[in-house]
This record gives sequence, structure tokens and C-alpha cells, in this order.
Amino acid sequence: MINTLVYIMIITMNGKALPILDMEFEYPNDPVPLNSPFYIDHPSIEELAYREIQKPGSVIRIRAPRKMGKSSLLQRILSYGKQNNYYIVNLDLRQTEASILSDLKRFLRWFCANVGHFLNLPSRLDDYWDEDIGSKVSCTIYLKYLLNLIDSPLIITINEVNYLFEYPQVAGEFLPMLRSWHEEAKQSEEMQKLRLVMVHSTEVYIPLKLNQSPFNVGLPIRLPFFTQEQVKDLAKRHGIEDTDGNLVTSLMDMVGGHPYLVRLALYHLVVTPDNDKKSISDRLQKIISEAYTQGGIYHQHLCEQLAILKDQAELLQILQLIVMSNDGIIVEPIAAYKLESLGLVRLEGNQAIASCQLYRQYFKYLYEQGIFNEYSRLHQLEAMNQELEKLANIDDLTQVSNRRFLFSYLEKQWQKHSYTGEVISIILCDIDCFKLYNDTYGHIAGDKCLQKVAKVLQSSLHRSTDIVARYGGEELAIILPETTSTLAVNLAKTIGQNIKLLNIVHKNSLCADKIITLSMGVASIIPQTHINHFYLMQAADEALYQSKNQGRDRITAKDLTITL
Ligand code: GH3
Ligand code: MG
Ligand code: MG
Repeated sequence: MINTLVYIMIITMNGKALPILDMEFEYPNDPVPLNSPFYIDHPSIEELAYREIQKPGSVIRIRAPRKMGKSSLLQRILSYGKQNNYYIVNLDLRQTEASILSDLKRFLRWFCANVGHFLNLPSRLDDYWDEDIGSKVSCTIYLKYLLNLIDSPLIITINEVNYLFEYPQVAGEFLPMLRSWHEEAKQSEEMQKLRLVMVHSTEVYIPLKLNQSPFNVGLPIRLPFFTQEQVKDLAKRHGIEDTDGNLVTSLMDMVGGHPYLVRLALYHLVVTPDNDKKSISDRLQKIISEAYTQGGIYHQHLCEQLAILKDQAELLQILQLIVMSNDGIIVEPIAAYKLESLGLVRLEGNQAIASCQLYRQYFKYLYEQGIFNEYSRLHQLEAMNQELEKLANIDDLTQVSNRRFLFSYLEKQWQKHSYTGEVISIILCDIDCFKLYNDTYGHIAGDKCLQKVAKVLQSSLHRSTDIVARYGGEELAIILPETTSTLAVNLAKTIGQNIKLLNIVHKNSLCADKIITLSMGVASIIPQTHINHFYLMQAADEALYQSKNQGRDRITAKDLTITL
């Protein structure tokens, strides 16, 4: 935080000087400190949150675009909790590695470990974690164990929940679990000690599926823009007495009461270079006239907004229509929701209107310069490239990855694992007696069977880092990063069972069941730099060969982490 100690005068808009003040101005980039004179209470919101946090098992959800004051409010809720001797666990998903966020088990263990750590309790995670009962149940049991050890309520805050939305599979399991804790608190005494505060930016569009839970329980708080009165109050706290109301009106017109943008303007009005002898109203005029240009005080903020929109060609087109019209236009609900979530438009009835002059002028300017058309063209090219790349990596028949992608992915993972020292596993699957299947039912039926098998393999995987690829003919390979031999064998067993559940009749199969079955070879290794990834593939192939030799419809595992 940049603090600037300045001696200023209280200045009226017509230039009349009032008594000299000695104040310290914070550059308004970070959450507003607890003792700051520049924090404007939202009438009722803070009180509402303090009341809610006292309720057993409560959930508070704070949502707003960036820089609207979410973290500042969060700090005040936590401070209130501390004053009441609540335990506090403050988590921020910005500080969590992608490899943890993308893996449900790792993420839940991370969650539990952090809660224990913040409570200063020794970790007993391994005693309580039981894969057989599942990660979510283990996580709940561990949390209850921790809650049992404390004698007053515990506030867990999860800031930047939006980071989890990029991992829909994990979010889809984790968020409903939070909801179930909230519901369980109605009966469970331990759970009543828990108070959850979830904070998320609304720049990231939340898929409706996730939006439902737990985002429809607890107290929702949407931070509003400042009102005219609040801006006036804030100006006064900066030493600016706006007697005729012109300053506040101009500010409201320019940035529509956006807390950060208002404060930035006020900061620049009062903290100026020594040689700037201009009156406040002249300075304001300068700020307004330069607002959307490169030299203006909002340049950084506008660039960040643009960066979010850049890849969304459709939204850009809609925004263009909105800023070009003075009265707003009717737009389809999802686009309206996205643009409102960005703080760019406000909705009046079913009309979407630019939320302030700053955005209107900036985006109008970009359109007039043809910059948006350029983005839109680049976006189309990029989409085409991605589509081509996808096609080049996909197997036509089964729609899983092809051999080319398999080896390039394996090589990348090999390098990563040799660096992290973690285990990587491969499952190689081969359809039993498939030639006989083709001979009996024809190639078209054979193709269909292959497609069904590939689909089962694909749907048996739950992490975005696990991939299925067609290795060749009727052989499919699964790459499982950061997976031990035991886990890979368990997955192979599940896959074997799922294939049997398809119940594809194969009357001439040499296997007992007379249905389509798989032989599998599992190989696991901690990659070393002096050998390459083909070594692992060969081990899986040998394991598969052994399964075939021993009568098919079985799994053979080679755990090279032991033999190496
Ligand atoms: P095993 O149980 O020992 O694996 O015997 P198999 O008959 O499955 O294996 P083999 O390697 O002898 O034969 C593989 C057969 O897979 C040959 C071919 O008929 C079939 N095959 C390979 N690719 C395709 C494909 O794309 N479509 C169809 N329908 N069949 C394929
Ligand atoms: Mg084969
Ligand atoms: Mg076969």
C-alpha cells in the first residue's frame, strides 16, 4: 500500500480554503484498512453480516465485480469475529496451486490441512482419511473432529472462490459439500460452530449448474455502488467540501459510484505534485477529460476490463450496441448477466445501459478505432486454430485422443514427474478376442463396440489431467499423472467392471462370460531423467501381454517404483 502523508487544506469547489488538515492518504488499491477514515459503511450490509455470522452454521456469500470492496468487508467481518473470540481460518484460493485445485482429493486434504494449521492443531489427517469411505466424507469427518476440539465458533472464509470455477469437476463436488454442512448444522452440534464466508468476483461467469449450490443458501450480499450521499461523505473525508454538489455530480456521472474508481479520483484530486497549483475543479476537469486515455488515472483499470472481454467476441459485439445507444437496449439474459457481473452495464427493467460515462467513452473510442473488429477477427482465427489442433489430436472413430497426442502428453508429463518425483501410471487396455468379434458380427458392429468401450473409459476418469487415447487398433491407453500403482489398479478394476456392465454379447469369445471384456496392463513409475517415457509404455505392454497369456479378462500390474 502506498501511503502519502500530505498537508492539505479543506477546499471548497469555488476555491475557498478551510482549516489545514494533516491526513494520511492510502492509495486505494488494497482492502481498506480497519482503522481507515476512508471506509464508508454500506448502510445495513455490515450490520446484516455481523448478525448472520452469529447464527449457528451460517453461510455468507459476498459477490461483486473486482474492486468493489469485498475484501474490505471480509476484513470487517473477521475483525468482528475476533472481537467475539471466534476462531478464524482465512483461505484464499489465489494462493492455491492449480495441481491442487484440479484434484478433488488433494483439494479437500489441502482444505483440512489449512483449517487445522490455522487453528494451531497438530495434523491427524492421515488417521482420519480413508479412501474407502471417500474424500468428501473423510473431509467432513476431519472437520468435525477439529470442531470438537474448539470451544467457540469457527469462521472459515474462502476468498476468490471464483478460482475454483475453472475446475468444474472439483467445484461441482466441493460446493454442494459446503451446502450439506450448512444443512447438517440444523441437527449437528459440532457443525453449528461452523460459520462460512465465501467471497467471489463476478467477472468469471458461473455456470448455472454451479450457481445453484451452495450459492442458493445462506445470506447473499451483493455490494452496491456508492450513492450520491456516500460520495459526498467520502469527498469530505478527503478534505473536499462540495458545497454546490458539482463535484459529486461530475464524479457520479463519470464512474457511477464505483467505490474504487471514486476513491481513485478523490486520491488524485488531493494528492498532487507540489507544483500543481490548480484548483480542485480544474483538476477534476483534467481527470474527466483524460479519464479513458492512456495518460488517464483509469487506464490500468480499463485495460484489465478489456483483457477479460478480449476473448469473448459475442459479448464485445453486444457491448458495442449498448455503448452506442444512449437509452440502452434489450439483450439476451446471459449476456446481460455477464456484462452486469463485470460492472460494465446496469439493468433497468429489461434494458441494459452502460453503467457510467467512463465505460461508455472508453468502449466507444475502441470501437471507433476499429480495435474491437481486430479482436473479433483474431478471436475467430484463434477459435479456428484451436479447432484444427483439436482435430489433429483426436481419433476419428472413438473421439478420444489419438496416438500422436498420447505420446506428446506422456512425454510432457514424464518431464514434469521426473522433476516433482511423483508417480505416473499407465493402463493399457485391449479388447479380448476382438478379431473374432469382427469375424462374427462384422466390422460395423466392431466399430460400434470400440466406440462404446472408449466412452466407458473416458467416463471412468474424473480429473482433467487423466486422458484416454487410442493406442492402435483395439488398444486404448490411459495416462494417470500423480497416481500410484494401487490407485491405477483400482481404477482398472472399475473400468473392467464397467465394460462388463455394457453386456455386449460376444458368443464366440474365448473368455468364459461370452461378453466383451478387457485385458489390461498397468505400469507405474517415478520417471527418471536417464530413461524415457517409452520405457513405461513398454512395461505396460509387457503387463498386458501377461494378462493375455494368462487367459485374458484380467489385470497385470508392474510397479516399477519398487523394482527401480
Ligand atoms: P486378443 O484377445 O488376444 O486381444 O485377440 P484379438 O482378436 O482382440 O486381437 P488381434 O490383435 O489378433 O486382433 C485385433 C483385431 O482388432 C483385428 C481387427 O479385426 C480389429 N480391429 C482393429 N482396429 C479396428 C477398427 O478400427 N475397427 C474394427 N471394427 N476392428 C478393428
Ligand atoms: Mg490388440
Ligand atoms: Mg484384442
